[in-house]
Amino acid sequence: MTIVNNLRKVDSLGRVVIPKNIREEFGICYKDEMAIHTNEDSIIINKKFNTCSICGDKHELTEFKGKDICLDCIAYIKSYK
Ligand SMILES: [Zn+2]
Repeated sequence: MTIVNNLRKVDSLGRVVIPKNIREEFGICYKDEMAIHTNEDSIIINKKFNTCSICGDKHELTEFKGKDICLDCIAYIKSYK
């Protein structure tokens, strides 16, 4: 775990800027969705990755009617009789 000593002030709307070097390190880009959680006395911010709407897998996704679905689930659905 990298300890970074970057102080940022919360603005009047409650926003905090994630420092550029951290955004770059984690591949965080403009308009990316971020998931915000709490854990005891900490606030945890994770980049939200697209996941399969059926199984939650993150890999080999394709979009179908506005939903992300993985290739394994598509194959399973195709074989369903
Ligand atoms: Zn799936």
